[in-house]
Amino acid sequence: MKLSRLRARVGFEVQRALRAAWGTGVALIFVVLLWQGWFPDLTLPGTDWSRAAAAAVLVAVLVAKVAGRLRMSERRRAAWREILSDIELGLLLLTATYVFLAVLGGVSSAVYPLVYALVSFLVTFHRLWVGIPLALAAMGFEAVMAFSPFTAPGAALVFPGHAGFIAIFALLNVVFLHAEVARQRRERRRRLAEEVASMRQEARDFRLISTALGSESRVRTREEEEEKLSQGSIETIHEQLFATLDLLRRSLHLQTCALVWLDASGERLKVKEMASDAPNLAEGSLLAKTGVFGALFRDGKPFALENPRPSLLPYYDGPVEVSAFLGVPVSEGRTVRGALIADRKTGQAFAQNEIDLVVSAGAQVMRIVQSERVFQAVERSKNEHERFYRASAALNRALTLEEVYDAAVEGARSVCEFEFTALATFDDKKGIHTVCRAVGEGASALEGTEHRDPASLVSMVVKNKLALPAAGEWRDHDAVHVFDPSVRLRGFESLLVLPLLVKDEVIGTFTVAARRPGAFPTDRREMLGVIANQVAISLQNGRMYQVLEEQATTDGLTSLVNHRTFQERFAAMLGRADRHQFRIALILTDIDHFKKVNDTYGHPTGDEVLRRVASILKASARKIDIVARYGGEEFAMVLEATDRVGARQLAERVRQEVAQQLFESSKGPFSAALSLGVAIYPDDARTKQEIISRADQSLYAAKDGGRNRTVCYGDLEKDRAKLKAAG
Ligand code: GH3
Ligand code: MG
Ligand code: MG
Repeated sequence: MKLSRLRARVGFEVQRALRAAWGTGVALIFVVLLWQGWFPDLTLPGTDWSRAAAAAVLVAVLVAKVAGRLRMSERRRAAWREILSDIELGLLLLTATYVFLAVLGGVSSAVYPLVYALVSFLVTFHRLWVGIPLALAAMGFEAVMAFSPFTAPGAALVFPGHAGFIAIFALLNVVFLHAEVARQRRERRRRLAEEVASMRQEARDFRLISTALGSESRVRTREEEEEKLSQGSIETIHEQLFATLDLLRRSLHLQTCALVWLDASGERLKVKEMASDAPNLAEGSLLAKTGVFGALFRDGKPFALENPRPSLLPYYDGPVEVSAFLGVPVSEGRTVRGALIADRKTGQAFAQNEIDLVVSAGAQVMRIVQSERVFQAVERSKNEHERFYRASAALNRALTLEEVYDAAVEGARSVCEFEFTALATFDDKKGIHTVCRAVGEGASALEGTEHRDPASLVSMVVKNKLALPAAGEWRDHDAVHVFDPSVRLRGFESLLVLPLLVKDEVIGTFTVAARRPGAFPTDRREMLGVIANQVAISLQNGRMYQVLEEQATTDGLTSLVNHRTFQERFAAMLGRADRHQFRIALILTDIDHFKKVNDTYGHPTGDEVLRRVASILKASARKIDIVARYGGEEFAMVLEATDRVGARQLAERVRQEVAQQLFESSKGPFSAALSLGVAIYPDDARTKQEIISRADQSLYAAKDGGRNRTVCYGDLEKDRAKLKAAG
């Protein structure tokens, strides 16, 4: 039973082979005819139509076989059939060539080199196991032509030469071709390896830099950070993918294991990662509808194939040996994103358990890509948080208004890039915007300027308590102005004026402008809004700090600077005087018999005297001078670039003015008097303590001399000298 079936099977195969190989039969018949010398030399007179018809038949067979071979590439066939078909075609070509030669005068004809050209062609354009049999066949034809009993005498003599040349032609072509292909493959592999190495190095660098982000001195721009981040993520994906693919390759004995990924259009595929022994993997993108991919992406199911023709495997360049192919789609939900492809050079078709393994590897691959995506999103928001944290920490740290302005500009910079920014405070009562800080081209001229245009953008922002323009685009430069029409801000396509809100009250505005359009998209506007809110709070805190500092530096009763501040500012002025070589006058004053004022008219009246004297002193000094409450009812004046003459004049004027004042009291009006002592830097002394001491001595001398008078230390010295001389 079994035997008969085997016999039938063998019979069928033989029949099929015979049917397929009839072209070879035709070629053999012609070989016999050539041996028989049936084709006469037509260079001699006489024509035989039957022979011409035979030659025509041969050409017809050749054409039919070429057509069959071309059709064949469209059907799925085993590789050995292709090889046999190529050998048959080669044989027919050789037959036709030798018949042609026989007709034109045999092996010694002038067209004989045609044989060499044909052999070169057959060897170069076919695989070795097609090219070599055909080169041997060509030598067989040579033998037929040389040793046939019907050939012209002497033909046998050229045989060794011809056969030798055919062998050399075949060999040289094989050697050069293969050497060239090998060289090109080596070169391609080397370039690929270099590229991969440089990419990996850069990614590694990034990882190192990234972990040290906190200690990095230069803060990267947002764009740089995004780019580095995605590079690092891509590298991590590839490392994990490669590990997965390589594991599959080794465990399933694969030649190639690759992940191909569909582009956005779904038309093209890119080899995302691969592990392969094959030297000729295709470069560049592939069409998603060709070869095995067509079936794979059409059905969206695992697709296995035995002995596929190389033309069905578009991920290879040129000839390749593959005994089994497997493709598994990689999907995200219902969407097919790509495919895992696996093939074997030799060995069996993929078994079901192997297919299952590749399917689960496909799911793993999808998870790698997804987790990397999540990681990237987390990392991005982490960076954003970090920048936000830094900006808000800087704003929180800012104590003085100056520090707040700086932190505001830096905070906005951490969120987006711009070329102009201005921070303005708004005085609700006066309706005035005051620019306290402006950064950008020509912006410094704007600092300190005041604006009260109700049609300006800043006024509208204050009124509406909303950021404007709504989309962050500056469309109409003529109709829309930020502060007032005279303030020219040119060349900006993006603009945003944010309100500085504290408990629903607008205390100022924060303006940012960028040259490029679309610099402030929704997410950036939201972040700038958060920064603006923090700026508002810091500004408010800064103002409170300013008030506290003023309280700490000024005297509550007279509003003059207090003793501590007097000491600090006097020291600072002395430093300047030393550097720039100018004089300083110090006047110390003390109200005469002040205890009596208090005792007679009461303490509150004494306070009123102190206030009045303080305002007289303040009014007679310049802005650069220091007027301080030195203690109790003593005041100090420090006059910059003033000599003894100038100081005495001023002291006298003050003394007279105070003496002229009439103070009200329950016991009727009364007047008060001042004694003043003057010392000059550097004429009377050089150090602060010494100058104060000299002025004090002068004041004491004024009291001693009868009160209500001015004494200069220099005069005191002169008087002492005179007394000494007289004594
Ligand atoms: P002299 O002419 O020698 O300066 O006599 P005097 O009475 O002014 O003496 P002294 O300078 O020692 O007196 C200082 C007085 O100033 C003592 C103190 O009661 C009074 N005093 C200090 N601070 C204040 C203040 O803030 N308000 C009032 N009303 N009096 C003050
Ligand atoms: Mg006193
Ligand atoms: Mg006094």
